[in-house]
Amino acid sequence: MEINTNKVKTLRECVKEVGEKGVAIGHFNISNLEGLHGVYNAAKKLKVPIIIGLSEGEEEFVGKNEAVALIKEIRENDSYPIFLNADHHYSFESVKGAIDAGFDAVIYDGANLSFEENVLIAKQCVDYARLVTQNTGRDIMVESEIGYIGSGSNIKETIPEGAGIKTKPEEAKRFVEMTGVDMLAPSVGSIHGLIKSGKPHIDETLVKEIKDTVGIPLVLHGGSGLRDEDFTNGIRAGISIIHINTEIRVAYLEALKKSMLDNPNEIAPYKILAPAVEAIEKVVENRLKLFNNIK
Ligand SMILES: [Zn+2]
Repeated sequence: MEINTNKVKTLRECVKEVGEKGVAIGHFNISNLEGLHGVYNAAKKLKVPIIIGLSEGEEEFVGKNEAVALIKEIRENDSYPIFLNADHHYSFESVKGAIDAGFDAVIYDGANLSFEENVLIAKQCVDYARLVTQNTGRDIMVESEIGYIGSGSNIKETIPEGAGIKTKPEEAKRFVEMTGVDMLAPSVGSIHGLIKSGKPHIDETLVKEIKDTVGIPLVLHGGSGLRDEDFTNGIRAGISIIHINTEIRVAYLEALKKSMLDNPNEIAPYKILAPAVEAIEKVVENRLKLFNNIK
C-alpha cells in the first residue's frame, strides 16, 4: 500500500503530538460501514485524528483488504489523519496478516501467556514490522499488552477472574527493552467490556509511574463505562490513546432496535440503519471532546 504522506501526518507523529499537548487519540472499533461513518463523522466535525480498530473477529467480518482500502480512501481523498489498527491479535500469523494487508498499527496481545512467551512473540512482531517498514517505507506501529484486563467488548455481570492484576512498572520496562514495541497497553484498573456490578477506575499514580519508567506512549483499553474524570486523570498521567468499543456497540444496537420497532414496514437498509449511524456518532463525539479537551 502506498500512503500519501505529503500532507497527512503519520500515526507516529499524531501520537507524539497528543503526548505534547496533553490530550489523547480516540480508538473506536467497527464491524461495518455504518460504524466507520459514525466514527468518522464525529472526528471530522471536531477535526481530530482518529484510529479505527478491528479485532480478529471484526477483521474477518469486514475483510482486511476492504478495511485498508476504505481507510486509505478517506485519508487520501480528505487528507485526514485516520488510521487503521489491528486490535488484539493473538498470534504472530494474524499480526503478520494485518501488516501485509496494509494496516497502520497492530496490537500483539500475549497478556495471557507467560512473560517469556509474550516477549518472544511480541519481538517477532516488532522485527517483522521493522522489516516491512524498511522495504516499503510504511511506518507501522506495534503495541503490546502486559497485565490482564479481561477480554471481549461485551456486558459482564462482574469483573472476570484474574482480570485487574495491575502491571508492575519494572516488568513493563523490561518488556519494552526486550521487545522494542512502540506503545504499551498496561493494566491500570480498567476492564474490557461494561461491568454491571461496580465501576472500575484508573490508578493514575500507576499510569504516571509506568509512563516515567518505560518512556513510550501508553494506551488505555477497556474505556467503556469509565467516569469522565478517570479519562482526564489518565490522560494527564500519560495515556496517549484510549479504546472504546462496548459503548458504541450498545448505542448501535439500541438505535437499530428502536428504528425497526418504529418503522415495521421499512425495508430499505439505509433508512433503517441511519439512526444507528447517528447514535454511534453521538457517543464518539462526546468521548472525543473529552479526550481532546474540546468544550
Ligand atoms: Zn482492548
